[in-house]
Amino acid sequence: MTTPFSYSAPKLLIAGQWREGRDTNRNLITNPANMQALDELTLASKDDLNEALAATQAAFNVWRQTSAHERCERLERGVTRIRENTEHIAHLLTLEQGKPLAEARAECQMAADLVKWYAEEARRIYGRIIPSRLPNSRMEVQKQPVGPVAAFSPWNFPLVLSARKLGGALAAGCTIILKGAEETPASVAAMVDCLNHALPEGVLQLVYGNPPDVSQTLIESPVIRKVSFTGSVPVGRHLAELSAHHLKRITLELGGHAPVIICSDADLKRAVDLLATHKFRNAGQACLSPTRFFVARQCYDQFVDLFGKAASALRLGSGLDAQTQMGPVANARRKQALLDLIDRTVAAGAQRISATAPDEGCFVSPTLLVDVPQSAPAMREEPFGPVACLVPFDTLDEAIALANQSEYGLAGYLFTDSAASIHTVTQNLEVGSLAINGVGVSVPEAPFGGVKDSGYGSESGIEGMEAFLDSRFVHYVS
Ligand code: NAD
Repeated sequence: MTTPFSYSAPKLLIAGQWREGRDTNRNLITNPANMQALDELTLASKDDLNEALAATQAAFNVWRQTSAHERCERLERGVTRIRENTEHIAHLLTLEQGKPLAEARAECQMAADLVKWYAEEARRIYGRIIPSRLPNSRMEVQKQPVGPVAAFSPWNFPLVLSARKLGGALAAGCTIILKGAEETPASVAAMVDCLNHALPEGVLQLVYGNPPDVSQTLIESPVIRKVSFTGSVPVGRHLAELSAHHLKRITLELGGHAPVIICSDADLKRAVDLLATHKFRNAGQACLSPTRFFVARQCYDQFVDLFGKAASALRLGSGLDAQTQMGPVANARRKQALLDLIDRTVAAGAQRISATAPDEGCFVSPTLLVDVPQSAPAMREEPFGPVACLVPFDTLDEAIALANQSEYGLAGYLFTDSAASIHTVTQNLEVGSLAINGVGVSVPEAPFGGVKDSGYGSESGIEGMEAFLDSRFVHYVS
C-alpha cells in the first residue's frame, strides 16, 4: 500500500525550539498493522525537563497578561492550521496507531473542534459581583488562570485527548507542558506544531520520555500548579498520590466499562446499527466504548444474532486501505492482554462468537462473549478492545443493579421507548455520561468525566475550563 505521506518521529518542543531529547535511551515506533519499525523517538532528559519548567514559568508571566480576545484569536489561528493539515496529521495517526484513515480524519476534526470551542469560551470567563454587606464596599470574584499545567495523554485518541487538555489550559490563560504517549508521538506533535505557530514562545511545550520520570519531575516542581491525566487506574492512582503529596490539583480520566441497557421496547435494528459502529470504532480502544450489554430476555437471542452478524461482517485491515472498517489494536501488549482476557472469560463460563483476524500485525477479531457470568474477568476488567460481553436480564431494576456492580462509572447507554424506563435509569445508573437511544456521550460543549474508579473532575464544557481557573475574592472599600 502506498501513501504520499512519509513518517518520521518528532522532536521535542522545549522553550519554542523543536529539538532532540537528550536522554540516552530511544523508543522504537512501530506500525501495529504490520509490526514494521517506523522510526526512533528521542526522549527528554532531566535537564530537558528542567528547561521546559523554566520556560513554562517565564511564558506564564506573559500569557496570563494576554487578553482573552487575543488568546481566542491566536488559538483560532492554530485551529485553522490544524484543519488545513488534517490529511497529514491523520496519516501519521493511522501509521502509528492503526485506526482507519476515516476515523483518524474525524479525530483530527474533533480535536480542532475542541480547541475552537475552548478558544471561544476564553471570551466568557466571567467573574461575578456579590451584593455587598456595606454601603461603601464592593465585592468581586475574579477568575485567574491556575498556573503552568503538566498534562499526560494516552495513545488511543492521542489528538482528542491532548486537545481536551491543551484547549482548556491555553484558553484559560495557563501555559502547558504536554507529555504525549510515546507510542503515538508524531500525530500529536503535528497538531501541537499547528497551535504553536500562533502562540508566544514557551506557552505550549511537548515532551516524550520515560513516563514515571517525566511525571515525577514535573509534578514535584513548584512551577506546576495543575495536573491532568488520561489513562489507566493504576497510573492515575499513582499520579493522584504524587499530586496530593505536593498539593497540586489534578483531573483524572481513567477509563470505563460502559453498560448498555437494551429494553424489550427498544428499536432493536437501530440499536444494533448504532452500537456495532460505536463498539468497534478504534478497535474498541475507547474509554466510552460500550462493553457490558444487558439485554431484555425477550429480545436477547435476536440481539445476539443481529449484533454477531454485524460484528463478523466488519472488514479488518490496514487503516490506510479505504475498505477497512476496523484496524489493529495499538500494540502487541494490548493484543496479548485481550486474548488472555477472552480466554479467561471463556474458562469462567462464557461462550465466544468471533470471526477470523489477519495473522500479521496486532489484529484481534471482533468478539462477542455471550451469557457471561457476572463474576467472569471480562465483566470486571475494562477490555479496551473489540470485545463485547452480553447478558440477559428480566427486570430493569436487575439490569441497573448489574450495571452498577462495576468499579468504573464513565459512560452508559440506554435503548428504550419508555419514558418511565428513561427516568429510572437516568436517576440510578452510576455514570458520568448517559446516552439514550443514541451513542453521543462526548461533545466539546458538555462535561466529560467519570465517577467511582473512572476518576474525578471533568474535561470539555464550562466545567473543563473551570478546572484551569482559580477564584479570587476581591473586596474594595472606599
Ligand atoms: P497506561 O495507563 O499504562 O498508559 C496510558 C498513558 O499513561 C500512556 O501514555 C503512558 O505513557 C502514560 N503513563 C504510564 N505511566 C505513567 C506515569 N507514571 N506517569 C505519567 N504517565 C504515565 O495504560 P496502557 O498500558 O497504555 O493501557 C492499559 C490500560 O489503560 C487500558 O486497558 C485502559 O484500561 C487504560 N487506558 C485508558 C485510557 C482512557 O482513555 N481513559 C487510555 C489509554 C489506556
